[in-house]
This record gives sequence, structure tokens and C-alpha cells, in this order.
Amino acid sequence: MNNKAVLIIDMLNDFVTGDLKCERAKHIIPNLKKLIEAARKHNISAVYCNDAHYPEDFEVVEKWGKHAVKGTKGAEVIPELKPSEKDYIVEKRTYSCFYETGLDPLLRSLYKGEGVKTVILGGLHTNICVRHTAAGAFFRGYKILIAKDGVEAFTKEDHEQGLKYLESVYNAKIKTVDEIIKEFG
Ligand code: ZN
Repeated sequence: MNNKAVLIIDMLNDFVTGDLKCERAKHIIPNLKKLIEAARKHNISAVYCNDAHYPEDFEVVEKWGKHAVKGTKGAEVIPELKPSEKDYIVEKRTYSCFYETGLDPLLRSLYKGEGVKTVILGGLHTNICVRHTAAGAFFRGYKILIAKDGVEAFTKEDHEQGLKYLESVYNAKIKTVDEIIKEFG
């Protein structure tokens, strides 16, 4: 049994159209929508991993400036990918969805306590939050599947180098959304 969960990373207003706007994010929206809807249909959990910052967070002050401040419009999931009540939401305060969040215990509790074995990663950015989340998954023994047309970065180079790193260092399998959905059965 290869229990799966889809993790949707930082598909928030600020990351797509707001303070940390990424033009290249737009074309992955329909692919992610398709992935999430297929997952729901096959009873595969969808977990939204969302930046929810305090304005005082180190990452905000020292590196990126204000973005995805908890409770603001910018920190909400984009309307196209609105979570359903069956989906899970995990708030994070830096790049990795595993770093000091409840994600790992959540994944281990799913499938009647058998736990998730494979995480499917989509969202932003291939070389930042996706990469650090893949690291967290790798350290904890999860298998990693990357939706290559469901992740993006500020530049093509960042995206492509990000994919290469994920594959070579974390043993991630890189597949299209259609290929991933086909494996849902
Ligand atoms: Zn952030």
C-alpha cells in the first residue's frame, strides 16, 4: 500500500498576485486544480501548507519583506484553489512545511493510522519552499513525487535547477500532473 497525500505549498494571494507576485505561477493553477480534484475523488488527502507570518518573523524582516501575514487577504489560498472542508490546512512560518508545524503527525495519522508513505508536492517555489519541504520529507522517510507542471519559481533557471536538485538529492520522482493522476487508479 502506497498511501499518498498531495501537499499544496504557498498557493496564496501574496505569492501569486500580491507582495511576492510570481508571473510564472499562473500557468500551474489549472494543473493544480486538476490534481487536487482528482485526489479528492480518490480519497487522497489534500493538505494546504500555507505561510502564515507574524510581521516580526525573521524571514519577513531579514529576507523577503512583508508577505502572507497571518489573518490578511494575502495569506489566503487563491480563490481558484479554495480548500474544501475535507482538506487539511497546515500553517508554517518559514520555507519547510515540516519545520515546527503539525504536518508530520498529521501525515502519520492518516489512512487509519497507517500513515502517508508518499508526498506529492505542488505549489511555490520549486527551489525554495518545495525544496525545503522535500528535505523535511526525505529526513522523515517519505517518498517524494513532484508535480513538475504543478510547481514553479521566479525564473525558468530557478525552476529547472530546483527540479534537478530534488531529483538528485532527495530521490524525488518528477512527473506531470496527468501521469500522477493516472497512478491514482
Ligand atoms: Zn514566508
